[in-house]
Amino acid sequence: MTVPVRHFDAVIVGAGGAGMRAALQLSEAGLKTAVLSKVFPTRSHTVAAQGGVSASLGNSEPDHWHWHMYDTVKGSDWLGDQDAIEFMCREAPKVVVELEHFGMPFDRNEDGTIYQRPFGGHMSNFGEKPVRRACAAADRTGHAMLHALYQRNVRANTHFFVEWMALDLVRDADGNVQGVVAMEMETSEIVVFQAKATLFATGGAGRIFASSTNAFINTGDGLGMAARAGIPLEDMEFWQFHPTGVAGAGVLITEGVRGEGGILRNSAGERFMERYAPNAKDLASRDVVSRAMVTEINEGRGCGPNKDHVLLDITHLDPEVIKSKLPGIREISIKFAGVDPIVAPIPVVPTCHYQMGGIPTNYRGEVVIDGKPVHGFYAAGEVACASVHGANRLGTNSLLDLLVFGKSSANSMIDFIKAQPAELPELATTDVDRAVARVARLDNQTGGVEVNDARNAMQRTMQNHCGVFRFKDMLAEGAAKILEVEEMVKKTQIHDKSKVFNTARIEALELENLIEVAKATMISANARTESRGAHVRDDAPDTAETPNGRDDTNWLKHTLWHRDGNRLEYKPVNMTPLTVETIALKTRSY
Ligand SMILES: Cc1cc2nc3c(=O)[nH]c(=O)nc-3n(C[C@H](O)[C@H](O)[C@H](O)COP(=O)(O)OP(=O)(O)OC[C@H]3O[C@@H](n4cnc5c(N)ncnc54)[C@H](O)[C@@H]3O)c2cc1C
Repeated sequence: MTVPVRHFDAVIVGAGGAGMRAALQLSEAGLKTAVLSKVFPTRSHTVAAQGGVSASLGNSEPDHWHWHMYDTVKGSDWLGDQDAIEFMCREAPKVVVELEHFGMPFDRNEDGTIYQRPFGGHMSNFGEKPVRRACAAADRTGHAMLHALYQRNVRANTHFFVEWMALDLVRDADGNVQGVVAMEMETSEIVVFQAKATLFATGGAGRIFASSTNAFINTGDGLGMAARAGIPLEDMEFWQFHPTGVAGAGVLITEGVRGEGGILRNSAGERFMERYAPNAKDLASRDVVSRAMVTEINEGRGCGPNKDHVLLDITHLDPEVIKSKLPGIREISIKFAGVDPIVAPIPVVPTCHYQMGGIPTNYRGEVVIDGKPVHGFYAAGEVACASVHGANRLGTNSLLDLLVFGKSSANSMIDFIKAQPAELPELATTDVDRAVARVARLDNQTGGVEVNDARNAMQRTMQNHCGVFRFKDMLAEGAAKILEVEEMVKKTQIHDKSKVFNTARIEALELENLIEVAKATMISANARTESRGAHVRDDAPDTAETPNGRDDTNWLKHTLWHRDGNRLEYKPVNMTPLTVETIALKTRSY
């Protein structure tokens, strides 16, 4: 089969915050830039971000990037790389003000400065007391951000390919990246997008779990494509469970609700976070709050007829504050929980929310293997692991991550592209043939497994074996089970090939990506025998040397999962910041 080829300076897969911030930089530098997206750009998942983007602007009270850096390292349970974290926190005020100048409609203080609210784990003066650091546009910050970035990209003549799905990365025999193979979703036409530099900004993969705050399009395509192309995935055992998903629905209630004064209560009406985090209380880090909630439920203090959730109470807030600062949350609560939070508390449970791991990059956005950048390949946003979130991400640091690393990866790409010969090299066809064969296998498969059945089996396995609390036996069993699910995925079939809009084929291809993420997660989690951040095992001993089960002697290192043979290797955490002193290891408490 001859596949048509289109040529660009840069190709970006993903039109969320990371992809669009990078595209803007590249297009404004005069480079011919293609952006591919499965959905219309402003429907990318960034649109769902609610609470805010962090930056130590200090608009309401004193703040400093170094305090932000300290909170991020502590939030990461010391697994974050301190060079990348310093870079991100120092850049934060700059990229947020830049965004303001792009036209982002932030909420305002009376003096006209950007409105900032408190958020979990954001503290002043190296952990002393909560600080207002989250810059917000009501509870629709991602929506406002994505629209501002899209409009700037239209002005900068970025070439958008909407409802195009990238299938596989193209590498030559030396491993140099040449672009991607993609499929137009409506027609199934397959085309190669060849470019001097390729950026993955495909977002997260929360759909590996049964209960998730993530959109249906968050299927880990970038991770699947990278894994198939021989790129290892870093720290995939670390998944954030957000404390406040609407019970039974999974839809997110932003931490900004607790930032505005919301309180978590158990069946006795007790503000139980006072016992678990006496200092930060309801605004402790997300992993800490999620575990406290699950402990309350497991010990019989859950609410409702099944005692299976707790309550988020904002009935004491001024209804005008709820209407002006949290209008989207009120709407979600009424629609999905059937309660108006002005008069009754919202039922909530921890729900899968964010992947801390991803494609290994440095803070310049270059994909790095064995200490060396992969020629022509970059990643940014939730798909990448820079690693600034380590074992647990702080709320609002993701929108910041995609602004900072979207921009820095684009700057690296500009330098790289300018150093390349004008002519693109000859296209290597091995990976193109592999992508075409994947689609052909699906089209020809008969007597196989239904996509829904395989996906349900995967989501159940992940939910039951790799949740908020993890158990030794369950992890080992899960690691075996997920390989059985992989065998089901290899035999998936699609029935209705005649559909004009090609959803059956797309869902089957997405599942092939999800299963790579699920395997990486389960196998990495089974191997890490300590508790750190969001990864908490029942068998990790809590001793003086291993406080809260964290074992710095043996496990202060990043996991790298290789698809080939499900092999694991490890690399050290970078404890050396760029200009300041190392933030030394400490027991984590809030
Ligand atoms: C409900 C919710 C609320 C949140 N609130 C906040 C918050 O207040 N603050 C904060 O910091 N973080 C928040 N987060 C996290 C944050 O929103 C995400 O981590 C971030 O927006 C991810 O951005 P991204 O650009 O990496 O990916 P996304 O915005 O998810 O974009 C991914 C893009 O990749 C495209 N894509 C994927 N696969 C393919 C493929 N194969 N081919 C072509 N295109 C592809 C998609 O179409 C899309 O355009 C929230 C997350 C959720 C779920």
